[in-house]
Amino acid sequence: MPQTSARPLAIFGGTFDPVHLGHLSVAWEAAELLDAEVRLLPVSVPPHRAPPIATAAQRVAILRAALQGQSRLTLDTRELDRPGPSYTIDTLHELRAEQGERPLVLLLGADAFAGLASWHRWRELFAATHIGVLSRPGVATALPDALEREVAGRRIADAAELRAWPAGKVIELTVTPLEISATRIRELLAAGRDPRYLLPAGLFDDPALLAPYRNPAA
Ligand code: ATP
Repeated sequence: MPQTSARPLAIFGGTFDPVHLGHLSVAWEAAELLDAEVRLLPVSVPPHRAPPIATAAQRVAILRAALQGQSRLTLDTRELDRPGPSYTIDTLHELRAEQGERPLVLLLGADAFAGLASWHRWRELFAATHIGVLSRPGVATALPDALEREVAGRRIADAAELRAWPAGKVIELTVTPLEISATRIRELLAAGRDPRYLLPAGLFDDPALLAPYRNPAA
């Protein structure tokens, strides 16, 4: 078994329009379960999807403010810094070139993981990264056959085992998803409401941060 001893680097991608306590709490739980650094990776939105309300720079400013005061969750803006949409596999190859043999873990919700076989060059992902499947307690999601066959020999139960390999394993991480959605937060802000306790408190200190959602037409 190849031995790597580095603390894993996990990535958690999303539109983060805006980031909220649902995202942050699962990312934090994953960081604790894996004893990893978790990077929040805002993704560029493909042309066929509805564009985010906030610009990339505005979403990054919110993320920076949300991450203040701790060092376990960090920010990686590389996909926004590149022109055009990005494929996860390309981002992982870049991270691998930078991180050497350090274990990488792609964090995916159970639903996103069940759809993995529709991703660009999906089988290559396993050579580039481990996958941490964020699962609700007691809820099992069935996988399509092709994905189940690929994953069957890769499952591990003990997070410490991930450290022995740079990539290639699949681990289920039982977390506590909160019933918070960015869509609902955008609706509340657009209606002039103040969704405190759904967003980090610090976001309300600077009125400019959430302004794009309060007045989306401006
Ligand atoms: P929207 O409502 O705009 O679709 P979203 O929060 O569902 O927003 P993203 O910002 O792209 O969408 O989410 C990033 C990742 O966080 C996705 O994998 C998504 O499944 C997950 N996620 C979103 N909300 C929660 C939550 N409340 N708890 C746990 N994970 C969440």
